[in-house]
Amino acid sequence: MRAIGSYIKCASATCSEKSTDLASSLSRSASSLKSSHMSQTSFQKIIAQLEKTYGRPQPPQTSDPLEMILFENVAYLVSDERRERAFNALRDQIGLKPTDILSAAPDRLLEVARVGGMRPEDRADKLQFIARTVLSEFQGDLRQILKWPVARAKKALKKFPGIGDPGAEKILLFSRAHPIFALESNGLRALIRLGFGEELKNYAATYRSAQEAVKDQLTSDSVEDYVWLICAHLLLRRHGQELCKRTEPICTSCPLTENCRYWRDNSLRLSRGKIGAKPSPKK
Ligand code: SF4
Repeated sequence: MRAIGSYIKCASATCSEKSTDLASSLSRSASSLKSSHMSQTSFQKIIAQLEKTYGRPQPPQTSDPLEMILFENVAYLVSDERRERAFNALRDQIGLKPTDILSAAPDRLLEVARVGGMRPEDRADKLQFIARTVLSEFQGDLRQILKWPVARAKKALKKFPGIGDPGAEKILLFSRAHPIFALESNGLRALIRLGFGEELKNYAATYRSAQEAVKDQLTSDSVEDYVWLICAHLLLRRHGQELCKRTEPICTSCPLTENCRYWRDNSLRLSRGKIGAKPSPKK
């Protein structure tokens, strides 16, 4: 199976140290998820089952807010692997500091943006915009927002292209600034089908309903446990990508059918092979 998420190689020593730290934390978390079965809520059991199915998530190689924003913007509508290639090209050929990006020759920046898929000119502009914003509004250091209250930090992160509430919350979680249960679209789809939350009139409302539904399922330990929340995010993402797919969920291979609302409502049709998904959460 494909690797979970997009794991990028970080050039800076500080970031590498943090990544190593997160890797070892994820390792410890894997053991604790398995050993605490008796006291788990149903949501925690689902995450533990996903871990048994997919294995321990590999950590993202950066939790730096600016690098996560660049990673999001360096590619468009491409696979995780290609996004990673584009980010690595940016890191190796241009650099990840705002001043690196702004001093790069336009042709070289465009060349890197081409690795990330269609409309490279738009992406090169976005990378320059991100760099200018960090310099002009954050004195060149976006990490300062990690010390800010949630609402202020999210407002700051949403100034950047491609970053809405879910993206901002993911950055605050992965950087271990705030223990928010953040989801991306694949994980959200799986969670809604499992019965946590409802598909509502728009993505934001659906996202909030899933967060609300899970809130009571998080014990005080897991709410404050960044590593567990990051694991949950990565495992749900992988499940949404590999089995709980947008148009044709592969329910007959899924370890979660027993706890799944979508399977309960559709099992007859799905087990006869008439696979079809209800409309999925849209971004
Ligand atoms: S049973 Fe099907 S719909 Fe439910 S979580 Fe598994 S793959 Fe998704």
